[in-house]
Amino acid sequence: MSFSKLLIANRGEIAVRIIRACKELGIRTVAVYSEADARAMHVRLADEAYPIGPAPAPESYLKVERFVEAIEKSGAEAVHPGYGFLSESADLARAVEGAGAIWVGPPPEAMEAMGLKAKAKQIARRADVPTVPGYDGSDDSEKGLAEEAERIGYPIIVKASAGGGGRGMRAVARPRDFLEALRGAKREALSAFGNDSVLLEKYVENPRHVEVQVVGDNHGNVVHLYERDCSIQRRHQKVIEEVPSPALDPELREEMCAAAVRLAREAGYRNAGTVEFLLQGEEYYFLEMNTRLQVEHPVTERVTNLDLVQLQLAVAAGEPLPVSQEEIALRGSAIEARIYAEGEGGLPAGGRLLAFAPPGGPGIRNDVGVESGDEVSVHYDPMISKLIVFAANREMAVRRLRRALEDYTILGIPTNLPLLRRIAEHPVFVAGETATDFLEKHRLAEPPVEIPVPEEAILLAAAGELISGRASAEPFAAGPWRHLGSVRLRYRTGEAEHWVEAERLGSNTFRLQLEEGESVVEVLAFRDGEMHAALDGNPVRAGFVLDGLEVRLSLHGVVYELFKPRPPTVDEVGLGGADAGGASLTAPMPGTVVKVLVSVGDEVEEGQPLFMVEAMKMEQTVAAPHAGTVRALPFAEGAVVPGGAVLAELEAT
Ligand code: ADP
Repeated sequence: MSFSKLLIANRGEIAVRIIRACKELGIRTVAVYSEADARAMHVRLADEAYPIGPAPAPESYLKVERFVEAIEKSGAEAVHPGYGFLSESADLARAVEGAGAIWVGPPPEAMEAMGLKAKAKQIARRADVPTVPGYDGSDDSEKGLAEEAERIGYPIIVKASAGGGGRGMRAVARPRDFLEALRGAKREALSAFGNDSVLLEKYVENPRHVEVQVVGDNHGNVVHLYERDCSIQRRHQKVIEEVPSPALDPELREEMCAAAVRLAREAGYRNAGTVEFLLQGEEYYFLEMNTRLQVEHPVTERVTNLDLVQLQLAVAAGEPLPVSQEEIALRGSAIEARIYAEGEGGLPAGGRLLAFAPPGGPGIRNDVGVESGDEVSVHYDPMISKLIVFAANREMAVRRLRRALEDYTILGIPTNLPLLRRIAEHPVFVAGETATDFLEKHRLAEPPVEIPVPEEAILLAAAGELISGRASAEPFAAGPWRHLGSVRLRYRTGEAEHWVEAERLGSNTFRLQLEEGESVVEVLAFRDGEMHAALDGNPVRAGFVLDGLEVRLSLHGVVYELFKPRPPTVDEVGLGGADAGGASLTAPMPGTVVKVLVSVGDEVEEGQPLFMVEAMKMEQTVAAPHAGTVRALPFAEGAVVPGGAVLAELEAT
């Protein structure tokens, strides 16, 4: 390769994915990071890393000068922009080349031509590629555009020519809504892209989104790597992508792929790019071309057995494409699901990842940019990872997707995993009949009514607490099952309260009594936020973290939150000999005093911790039931106390 050091002008999972490709090729990697990312995974994995400014992207990842400085400091010989941020910026491409480095992407001229939808549509027409009927001429007047809209026929769509990410786009159903939509689209386009030119298109009702991956080299070769079906979108943003598209037969596939190659040739395209189409029945229309690597490129890698990043690097280094069109075959079926840090309404969420354990097994690929313990910043795109499944056919790939989503553990921040599971189980998705209105039509994006916490989850929460040795259990002092050596745990889930009576049968085995039923839970493995257990002999895997007074548990892909009461006071653990003015605190069961937190004569406040007792390998804090003076502490630290012994005497003040 003609370069040995590459700078990645990006962050998150895509930076990590590029770093890994470079490692395999013996290319040294240079990461850049904002203040929010100083300890991020891509920084940890790169050979070198340079700070490029404060957390907000406009002050760091969107600043061309910062990258130029990092190229100069690091001596990087090439730059890969990833996707998003400045990946489609011809300015960055030129600045990189100006700094003497190789741009891993298309020529800046091709990026510029394709960056404006109107220009791109003109190139498409020259290449004899069908475009959505509409208007992309030079008349920019409100009157002229309104007339064009009438000519096209409603419904129509107004689009920012410089647009991306669905911004500056408005669908218009009726003529009388046109002007308002036009003005809104222009306003949004100006603030988002600094360019308010728009184009009009016929609104294609419920199309599929099918795109074709192309790669060109500097030697006149352009090949396609087949299609990706990205019809499942939320607010015009892709959520699930797959290949092959269930909507294409071999002839249509051949035709669309050939159209994409023609277009790339016409645009003087080199490196990797994606030609997007809307598909309605057998009719397909060019939408736009993305002049960069796509988020969903891994599905293409799986079915073609090619590494797109390595192809990009080879082409950028001036090498001819290592494969010919005839050698590129489409085998099997691959589906990608994007994992977003977001609440049920779709609002981005941030915070600390208490547990992050993607699924494993055959036919599973995880592209991730985070690990357990990492902070997810709200400054950037909320996508934290991608799950890619692969199987011999679509039916098996869908089954694999469902299984993998069930096995995905993410605790600490909300994610779209519940939405992905609803999609994976939906009969329309299973049948491969999704169009771009799929989520809306079937109301999948709306949060379901609250799912009650299953008994299994409560039992596993209790077992997790007990095995972790951090249970703040309440010694069991009353009730029909009273016997020494058992404790009880209390949880609140929504409005409901649950009691679990627990008895230790062995070092990892508990008998748990919940409401009416009794279960034996054996904890087989417990580490890194995950627990493997046998529940009455049935194996089960759950994500588990104890976060203050909250137990977060994920089971079959669903996250449950169980709240624990505050540590008990002596009133609750049971007192002996209480009288009007004082209290003696008695041990409800045999145990060991592990810590005495006060001395005789101390004035204590209500609720103040007095000592910690360990019983059944569980530590409990015993707190003062009321304010008072400590009159006696018969047991020192380390002392073994028999059940019923007086631990302290407290005189009320
Ligand atoms: P952006 O560049 O902002 O992502 P695109 O032009 O790529 O915008 O369109 C994004 C999505 O919007 C498409 O995948 C499709 O769902 C919808 N869309 C775009 N143009 C049309 C159209 N003419 N008719 C119907 N839906 C459209």
